[in-house]
Amino acid sequence: MKRIGITTTVPIEILLAAGYQPVDLNNIFISDANPERLVNIAEKAGFPLNCCSWIKGIYGVCMEQKIDTVLCVTTGDCSNTVMLMEVLKLKGIKTIPFAFPAQPDPGQMQKALEELAKTLNTTLDAADRVREELKPCRQLALKLDGLTWQEGVVSGYENHLWLVSASDFNRDYRNYQRELEELIKQCLKRQPYPSDYHRIAYIGVPSVYGQDLYKYLESQGARVVFNEIQRQFAMPHPTPSLAEQYSRYTYPYSIYDRLKDITAELKRRRVDGVIHYVQAFCHRGIGDIIFRDAIKLPFLTLEGNDDFLLTQHLKTRVEAFIDMLQRSRRRTKIAEEV
Ligand code: SF4
Repeated sequence: MKRIGITTTVPIEILLAAGYQPVDLNNIFISDANPERLVNIAEKAGFPLNCCSWIKGIYGVCMEQKIDTVLCVTTGDCSNTVMLMEVLKLKGIKTIPFAFPAQPDPGQMQKALEELAKTLNTTLDAADRVREELKPCRQLALKLDGLTWQEGVVSGYENHLWLVSASDFNRDYRNYQRELEELIKQCLKRQPYPSDYHRIAYIGVPSVYGQDLYKYLESQGARVVFNEIQRQFAMPHPTPSLAEQYSRYTYPYSIYDRLKDITAELKRRRVDGVIHYVQAFCHRGIGDIIFRDAIKLPFLTLEGNDDFLLTQHLKTRVEAFIDMLQRSRRRTKIAEEV
């Protein structure tokens, strides 16, 4: 299959139906042994220092891996992608724009999907057949998520990794399905995490720290039981059509749509504290104001740029946050005993 780069989660059912193999450029960037190298490629080409590292990383991957076609989301993801698209064109890469509708409306989504299918010379009927083929993968992602927050036998990082990878199913959905089935079998044999671990929600775009943040939280007696955007990428809940599936997906829409999903999950998953990750120079960081106003739980905002490991400064902030959760738990216990 011919590779097609994607800059975020897109209706991959249509891409697969058209005979393309979607390649999530973000996942290639962040799983590289040396992501700084990919950022450097972009900076040498002239990308400003105050441009988000993900955008620079995507550019670096395109150059290094000789990606010749990229589907760029122009509405519903990142304003920087529009200019990235122009630069990729300059470098001779074929770019195909895709715009999520302004509202999560199935009728408008149907039109956007039809348009994309037409551009790629396929049909929505063919994409719907792919949707059926992908169902077991999405069901397994849902199962893994449940094993994370309900059974406590899946780590926050495993949850992150498998849900975020659903954007392109690691470039081979059959293999994704086999490997995830195997992991779930292994997880079912594990002892659950101690019940006194603080339950953390991670909201916001995936961080540049990879497993570092998750591991550090665990070393401090806390674990992530909700990865907000990653779960959205996986779209694990069954829907009657492709248009419904992508309308239920909250990431491209208003922060208030995301909040409805987040607040319901915070309650359902009995979350003790929330970490909001924001990427330096990202417009989404402004949404922190709204989250802080709406979420009535202890809240820590972490900003990352191009340090791909947690710095000592960030570790201290995480420690102080967990310490605060610990003290608040003690106070509640004392109040209950009195
Ligand atoms: S982190 Fe923000 S600025 Fe960077 S690619 Fe994602 S949406 Fe764009």
